[in-house]
Amino acid sequence: MERLIEGHKHFLAEVFPGKRDQFHLLAESQAPEWLFITCSDSRIVPDLILGTGPGDLFITRNAGNVVPVAANDVDGVTATIEYAVEVLRVKHAILCGHSDCGAMKAALDRKNLENLPKAKRWLSHVEGAFSHRQPLNPADGDAGELAALIRGNVIAQWLNLRAQPAVARAVQEGRLTVHAWYYDILTGRIEEYDEKERRFAPLLG
Ligand SMILES: [Zn+2]
Repeated sequence: MERLIEGHKHFLAEVFPGKRDQFHLLAESQAPEWLFITCSDSRIVPDLILGTGPGDLFITRNAGNVVPVAANDVDGVTATIEYAVEVLRVKHAILCGHSDCGAMKAALDRKNLENLPKAKRWLSHVEGAFSHRQPLNPADGDAGELAALIRGNVIAQWLNLRAQPAVARAVQEGRLTVHAWYYDILTGRIEEYDEKERRFAPLLG
């Protein structure tokens, strides 16, 4: 814990004073433009890779960047999405998967889930990845098969996201755009799914 205590000391002494005005404004309200849905993986730091900061991204994260399909039970992800779209009125919703995703590795090799009953049930949400699996990309090297499945999961969850009633309504009204991204940890680069071309392409042409 010492590292975190030291980090917080540094924040209060060195970072906060320079952003005092920004935090003062943010203390009473937020108006983020982007809903960002990604994996819990520690290697994805949205503000770092997107140049954003406090007040910018409304974020929900879970193992495998899952958006559960409509179910009777409420869940944290879809409740968060509904709030972001209906109350905060975000302009963009971004579903972001990533290379070397442990959740997708587990989906490929289920025998590692024997002692993880909750994770096992949760991963039933990524079954759709198999039917949207993408072509192998030579740039992914030995991880090609996994990367193709991860991209498939991005598409599956992006479709689930678009099917959320609040999202579908906002898209219909022309006030929300929904994006599907794949983030490569090794290169730091992001790919975006091009719906017309039905393939992933670099976000920065
Ligand atoms: Zn992951």
